[in-house]
Amino acid sequence: MSRIVYVNGEYLPEESAKVSVFDRGFLFADGVYEVTSVVGGKLVDFDGHAARLERSLGELGMTAPLARAELLDIHRELIARNDLDEGMIYLQITRGAADRDFAYPESATPTVVLFTQTAALIDRPAAQTGIRVISIPDLRWGRRDIKTVQLLYPSMGKMAAKQAGADDAWMIEDGFVTEGTSNNAWIVAGGRIITRHLGTEILHGITRAAVKRLAEEAQMQIEERAFTLAEAKAAEEAFVTSASTFVTPVVEIDGTRVGNGAPGPITRRLREIYIADTVATAI
Ligand code: PMP
Repeated sequence: MSRIVYVNGEYLPEESAKVSVFDRGFLFADGVYEVTSVVGGKLVDFDGHAARLERSLGELGMTAPLARAELLDIHRELIARNDLDEGMIYLQITRGAADRDFAYPESATPTVVLFTQTAALIDRPAAQTGIRVISIPDLRWGRRDIKTVQLLYPSMGKMAAKQAGADDAWMIEDGFVTEGTSNNAWIVAGGRIITRHLGTEILHGITRAAVKRLAEEAQMQIEERAFTLAEAKAAEEAFVTSASTFVTPVVEIDGTRVGNGAPGPITRRLREIYIADTVATAI
């Protein structure tokens, strides 16, 4: 069934939506994006995603083409027009179309695209079984805190995982885990919940921030620091967080079972707490 998508101020059937071949998003990956999940027809952590979007745009010297309230209206309009109950809204803003030149154009009108994608988020088999990951070197650029659309290396990592019969890849830099191809990486060791500290080496996950806050509210012990691949393999539990997977257990790393090879109790509890909060606070 054809969706209604948003392109530069218009709501159009997906077949009619067009972007210029000169768009810098297409030519240079000169653009940023956000993925906001939708549960029960409502947006999860919209403000967190909007704030990160504004930051990403600022880091690339772009001004936000739409105010936060306008963006919220567009998100809601797309949910309504596509009758979306559960899934995601993808938003992309590029610097716009201009003659091909490495230097930013003096003036270009940003391209704004949003579309919906239906997906089961709460009832996912992976939440019950857990996922298996492989490790790969982190060969991405150095500003992973900016959510740009240059996702080829994560895509290659995902393919390497598939070819190895696994589900995803964790990326390693200087012996430490940075993050998953499209999620933040966590372990539970000695009863403490550990996830990498924020910096330019990882994306500042909106789900990561929410899970951290909820774990602290539940009096769980959180440590923000880099952990090694060896630590992860020896951990009691491991999991990933992202807007589309919430909290998903990791049960195997490079063929080594994590804990007893089944989703652990802390991971399960965090998923439950996160989903309860998500449903209660979605707008
Ligand atoms: N790290 C990377 C590299 C990602 O691509 C994502 C998801 N876009 C995340 C972490 C998780 O971020 P969020 O919780 O905001 O979806």
